[in-house]
Amino acid sequence: MLAGVVGVQGDVSEHQAAFRRAGEELGLGVETVAVRSSGTVPDCDVVALPGGESTTISSLIRREGIDDEIREHVGAGKPILATCAGLIVLGRNDDSRVDSLGLLDVTVERNAFGRQRESFEAPLEVEGLDEGFHAVFIRAPVVSEVGEGVEVLAEFDGDPVAVRQENVVGTAFHPELTDDYRIHELLLRGQDD
Ligand code: GLN
Repeated sequence: MLAGVVGVQGDVSEHQAAFRRAGEELGLGVETVAVRSSGTVPDCDVVALPGGESTTISSLIRREGIDDEIREHVGAGKPILATCAGLIVLGRNDDSRVDSLGLLDVTVERNAFGRQRESFEAPLEVEGLDEGFHAVFIRAPVVSEVGEGVEVLAEFDGDPVAVRQENVVGTAFHPELTDDYRIHELLLRGQDD
């Protein structure tokens, strides 16, 4: 299996390592690649869109033509994990500088925790995981509106911070920054057949 991590900004090597370790855990041979231009996503079985600055990421993936390849990937039923700024890019938001890909039926509020809580860590209960998940939030968004086909996987202070719509999983936090790759595992499950 090939896991592609969009590498225009953000924690690229951390996501790659998490996919490799999740693959080992599941007994799948997972190779990873950083996606920096068009032509790579079509070869990938699973993709991650990391955090960073959503304004920058959305314009870079558009410039490189990666945006349409991500649309095709999701349209073909293949899984994608979008974290933090990645979630902002996949969902709707009210910042005109971010081009939404429209692949996740949620509205996302950028920098929702304000200056007081720019970055923090919190234990979460995540649907589908047997034990709690230690989540790292960095200038994180929250999901303010959830469409009908979207399942909320985790909440923090009553707001959704992890969601799933079929093959698309979005988290407001950074699952690649802890030594716990169970969220990456969720994306790989069922992909080996
Ligand atoms: N605050 C960033 C944004 O709005 C997201 C931060 C992150 O990805 N850690 O784009």
